[in-house]
Amino acid sequence: MRQGLEARCASHAQATAVATCARCGGFLCGECLEVEDAAPYCEPCVAWRRKNDRVSGLSWAVMVLGGLAALMVVLLVPTVGYFLFGGDTGWNREVGFQVIVLLTLLLGLVSAPSLVLGFWEGRRIHQKKSPRGGQRLMRLGMWLGGSGLVVFLCEALFAVWTAWAVMSANLD
Ligand SMILES: [Zn+2]
Ligand SMILES: [Zn+2]
Repeated sequence: MRQGLEARCASHAQATAVATCARCGGFLCGECLEVEDAAPYCEPCVAWRRKNDRVSGLSWAVMVLGGLAALMVVLLVPTVGYFLFGGDTGWNREVGFQVIVLLTLLLGLVSAPSLVLGFWEGRRIHQKKSPRGGQRLMRLGMWLGGSGLVVFLCEALFAVWTAWAVMSANLD
């Protein structure tokens, strides 16, 4: 009587089911059960998830780098603004300038790799070597990193132009 009420494993008729697959709902015995991200899955569903659903480590890396680039821009905007338009308000311009240079270097260091890694991982996803799950996250990271790189290049151009203007003024 009791045996009839117990669910049986879909693959092993003799074994009592201990869980159901989180994706397909199939009954699983202890032997068939595989745990991924704290959820039970059957073996075919684990394979499916690895191929399609998972967010790859590289996608996360692209997002983290893009997020850091965005943080640098957020910190740079008020610093540059205050440096250019803050006037003489007791603010130490020399320290301000060093902070700007440091933030700009960090911005270049995180934004360029986020784009390189993003294009690389995008190719791997296209070739089905990486799971598709992280694609949106990765695109957001690349968008942030790309915007950061544009800011970095604008700043670099501005710095070169300023240095050139100072040098030619000294020559006269
Ligand atoms: Zn399943
Ligand atoms: Zn089984």
